[in-house]
Amino acid sequence: MADINDARAALKRYFGYDEFRPGQEPLIGAILAGRDALGVMPTGAGKSICYQIPAVLLDGLTVVISPLVSLMADQVAGLEDNGIHAVYVNSTQSPEEQSAALAEAKQGLCRVLYVAPERLDTARFADFAAHANIGLLAIDEAHCVSQWGQDFRPAYLGIGEFIARMPRRPVVAAFTATATERVREDIVRLVGLNNPQISVTGFDRTNLYFDVIKATPTAKRQWIERYVAAHGEESGIIYCATRRETEALADDLNARGASAVCYHAGLPPEERSRAQRAFVNDEVHVVVATNAFGMGIDKSNVRYVIHHNMPDSIEAYYQEAGRAGRDGLPSRCTLLWCDADIMTRRRFIDNESENDRLSAEDAEAVRARRRVLLDGMTGYCRTTECLHRYITAYFGETGETVCSGCSNCDGEFETVDVTDIARAVSECVHDILTLLEPNRDGSPRGLGAAKIVQILRGSDSQEMHDWRHLDSAPTYGRLKNRTAAQVRDVISQMIADGYLVVADGRFPIVLFGPRAVETVAPDFRMTIKRLERPAGSAARSA
Ligand code: ADP
Repeated sequence: MADINDARAALKRYFGYDEFRPGQEPLIGAILAGRDALGVMPTGAGKSICYQIPAVLLDGLTVVISPLVSLMADQVAGLEDNGIHAVYVNSTQSPEEQSAALAEAKQGLCRVLYVAPERLDTARFADFAAHANIGLLAIDEAHCVSQWGQDFRPAYLGIGEFIARMPRRPVVAAFTATATERVREDIVRLVGLNNPQISVTGFDRTNLYFDVIKATPTAKRQWIERYVAAHGEESGIIYCATRRETEALADDLNARGASAVCYHAGLPPEERSRAQRAFVNDEVHVVVATNAFGMGIDKSNVRYVIHHNMPDSIEAYYQEAGRAGRDGLPSRCTLLWCDADIMTRRRFIDNESENDRLSAEDAEAVRARRRVLLDGMTGYCRTTECLHRYITAYFGETGETVCSGCSNCDGEFETVDVTDIARAVSECVHDILTLLEPNRDGSPRGLGAAKIVQILRGSDSQEMHDWRHLDSAPTYGRLKNRTAAQVRDVISQMIADGYLVVADGRFPIVLFGPRAVETVAPDFRMTIKRLERPAGSAARSA
């Protein structure tokens, strides 16, 4: 049986590399030993090698399930260049080409076969799978199985069944770049990974300086104008929430002597590609864009990414901000935000029209999930902890993250003591657990953050009086002198810091987190960021 030394030799022989990158060795080692694996690494960190090396060492064929039909030919060509024979079957081929590829794979004439998840469901492929000698099933972009993410793809739900129908279960290895705890659990459960080796690595981008600034819309604008003027020769991307804002801001920057183009999905395709080309070729320095910009854009010398508005999840933020500094040189990622950004995002979730095709209950569940993602994002805006650490912890990276530069570690904020609010919140969670009976399976019942705010502020809503006597909770009305926003901020921060957790379920509920006991200690203190910072103070360069 091949082991990790064989893997290292194969790394050198087929790919020309001497060392594995972080995370690759444990994953490859597990696969070679016959154990399932889940690799979570950002794009470009080296996931493909984790199944390509076992593919040349294991007995039998490696089937790679990938949603990216348009990239399959490239992936196959890349492997062929390295001397690894691979084929693909997809809808771009004629039926004859498809049969030829499958025949080659069945006869063991190639090492790797790429297919899209939709194909698993066809009778032809089922017949193939029943007769081929498949040693490894690798699932690329495995987060598509989860409805928690943005890229849910129903066909991924069929993978588990497909595996169950195979006459001999192969080793199964799933890979993804975007996986929070919840998505990871979904992958393990829905694909049916068996005690997998899980490896989460490579999320920290040490050359990026992270900066969070709360500012009014006017102050945001001024900050950006100043920053762009002071960094005139550098390439930068400025993300705005709406098409109108991108146009107005690009005009404004140009009027002040900068060279900026705007980019959004409402522009004619020629204009979009012209803007993109001008930016990639350094003919203009700044692109002011909506989130439509960035997919497949390969520009390594982006020195800064500024967000004029807060995105709706850390996943989205990190993907966009991560377009800075691909060349490894110091670059800056600044997030400008204000309370209105949060309200806009909340309103957007409340009114989402794509939910129209779902049942009312399912639509509410989707909304509840989006709100949890949004809480992760607002937690980033408000945290007083290291921003690098916040991000790596969000993605579930377990190793120690050492800050390589962020505005929180530079101490660019003042704090407010919110110990009394935090204690009251903690007691309120306790009250709720006492008042509500546990579920039938013994798991605790709880309430969402909005209800906790209502109880603490002594809301007079009928529900408070009628339902389980919430108004009899000892903490009912304890924080009636505080605003809902203040209490909500503290709850978000308590979740971000691990005093509370949001538990999975159809509706997210707030329960005690691993650090909850600290809130009853006599010396417990909690502070949060005082969020008003003069906008001018941060316009100096990173
Ligand atoms: P991902 O699938 O995670 O996006 P890839 O597998 O495409 O990433 O790898 C990204 C790049 O890194 C590729 O050019 C690959 O050859 C290279 N790479 C992967 N592993 C190593 C390694 N151990 N040493 C050096 N380069 C590596």
